[in-house]
Amino acid sequence: MKFQLLPSTFDENGCASARQHLSCFVIDDCVAIDAGSLAMASSSTQKKQIRDVVLTHAHLDHVAGLPLFIDDLFAKLKVPVRVFGTKEVIEIIERDIFNWHVYPSFSELRNGNSAVLEYQTFENGKEFLVKHLRFKPIAVNHKVPTVGFVISDDNKTLGLSGDTAEMEEFWEVLNAEKKLSALLIECAFPDELEELALVSHHLTPQRLKKELEKFTQKDCPIYVINIKPMYFDEVVRQVETLKIKNLEILKVGRVYNL
Ligand SMILES: [Zn+2]
Repeated sequence: MKFQLLPSTFDENGCASARQHLSCFVIDDCVAIDAGSLAMASSSTQKKQIRDVVLTHAHLDHVAGLPLFIDDLFAKLKVPVRVFGTKEVIEIIERDIFNWHVYPSFSELRNGNSAVLEYQTFENGKEFLVKHLRFKPIAVNHKVPTVGFVISDDNKTLGLSGDTAEMEEFWEVLNAEKKLSALLIECAFPDELEELALVSHHLTPQRLKKELEKFTQKDCPIYVINIKPMYFDEVVRQVETLKIKNLEILKVGRVYNL
């Protein structure tokens, strides 16, 4: 299994920067988890192959590229883009994005070949298949209904927290997995913005440290994701001072092979 966090931010030279405004992970070049920069930063191979998008939640930084992705592919699609989400998440994007006001209601439209957008709902705790991948959704602790995932192919297993504050069930499920190949976990704000992190249900480095004490797979590589770009340097510095074995910042754009 390979995965990549697509870039979403430019540096002063117009090149992809290490900072992350939007969230979009691509697995094996064919399945997207969230769609923040899906239209803007996916490769031509990924654009050709991705027809399945699995959403953690409906916040803009996780769905911004979805309407544009379908728009770009509209005339070419031979099968619909399938969007997987909980009932709540799909209701939100149908009501607030694909509503003809913000963007067309693609679920009502067809090109010459097929429908262009199809929804697939899943329930917390119930596994579902997307291509060759098994997804186990677990409700996490964010301001809006949000899930994390355990994602497996025949060989490897990846944990992804999504946006979240402190969790219990997520750790129980992860700890029960035989062997995790990698864990991606958020840490949005630096320690000095503790209050903001609390009201918006995100983690800080100190609270991330406490969370990781609940994780029993001590040899598993852990990558920090979803750092707010404004606070990137502070969060990186604070994460480094935690001195936790196997913990590092996920590199935007890099392809990781598990
Ligand atoms: Zn969020």
